[in-house]
Amino acid sequence: MSKVNPKFATELKKYGSDDFNACFNCGNCTATCSLSTADSSFPREMIRYTTLGLEGEIKASLKPWECYYCGECSTECPREAKPGELMMSLRRWLTAQYDWTGLSGLMYKSLPASITAFILTFVGVLAFAFNSNFDLEHMMHVGHMFEAIAIGTIMVVIFIPNIARMWYFTILQPKVKVPFKKYVSSLGEFFVTMFVQKRALDCDDNRFRWFEHFILVLGYLSLLFTTVFLDWFSTEYVAVNIFGYLVSAIVFIVTIDFVNSRMKKKKAMNQNSQPSDWFFVVWLFLMGLTAFMTRLFIDLDIIESNKWLYIFHLTILVQWALIIVPFGKWTHFLYRSFAMYFAKLKEK
Ligand code: SF4
Ligand code: SF4
Repeated sequence: MSKVNPKFATELKKYGSDDFNACFNCGNCTATCSLSTADSSFPREMIRYTTLGLEGEIKASLKPWECYYCGECSTECPREAKPGELMMSLRRWLTAQYDWTGLSGLMYKSLPASITAFILTFVGVLAFAFNSNFDLEHMMHVGHMFEAIAIGTIMVVIFIPNIARMWYFTILQPKVKVPFKKYVSSLGEFFVTMFVQKRALDCDDNRFRWFEHFILVLGYLSLLFTTVFLDWFSTEYVAVNIFGYLVSAIVFIVTIDFVNSRMKKKKAMNQNSQPSDWFFVVWLFLMGLTAFMTRLFIDLDIIESNKWLYIFHLTILVQWALIIVPFGKWTHFLYRSFAMYFAKLKEK
């Protein structure tokens, strides 16, 4: 029996969910959830663990990642305990547990800390532009180098240790025995989750959201590839240029719908947006839009007289790469993929 943390429910409220105490354990939510199975039953179990303060069980569990937040359980809950929101908050809390730096937890719990980080990075970009005498060619060269270096550094310094911690909490510490060949044969689950999110299709009434998410992931990864490896802002190749316009447009057009849905709050999944949710969709929108506009201004030969646009784009890029990717909601993309892979490893 693991240790009880009587303050766990209070702690979790800082990650967004504060209605789960209304739960009277009827089980409607689990019966409603189309992703819950006999072998992996949720969300009621997670609510029980939360109210009982079974922090160790939650840390070792991958179930919060099996939820794709369709919101059905929250709609059907007779006590309005919002179990879907609880699962989302548990994902934020787990992200904070995996992160060895502690910065994810700080960002999730403290809006002033997040705003301070955004302001500091903005000041850093302005100082860099000033030091470069606003030389556009130099700024673009450094901006391009920054992207490549940031990806490699964050992967090595943040993500690899955090995924190792996730593996330790969910596989090693609970003493789950996994033969090596299963690590290899289950790898397909990781890639299918990362690129296709196939399981989300089983969520009720979710086809359009799945499609939007699918093309957004493809658009985002393609934009990353085009700017980092094909040097989109400097390329002479027409095909690369057109491809860059296409993928950046996909990113900002799809995210308009995401922002719109969160503002309208019609669906359960959009009714409790936290600052981290807003940062993710707004910054993704701004990244696609400012990248598109920067290349357009280059092609129209008006970028020199509009250097502010590139400085704005660089600010968004730096904030995205140093705040949202390593410590914000972007991490869901990575942790969910590993969670489904680890869940496959745990299958008997
Ligand atoms: S969260 Fe709602 S539906 Fe689920 S067990 Fe509790 S009261 Fe029932
Ligand atoms: S939000 Fe959807 S997927 Fe998540 S637990 Fe509720 S019903 Fe299941």
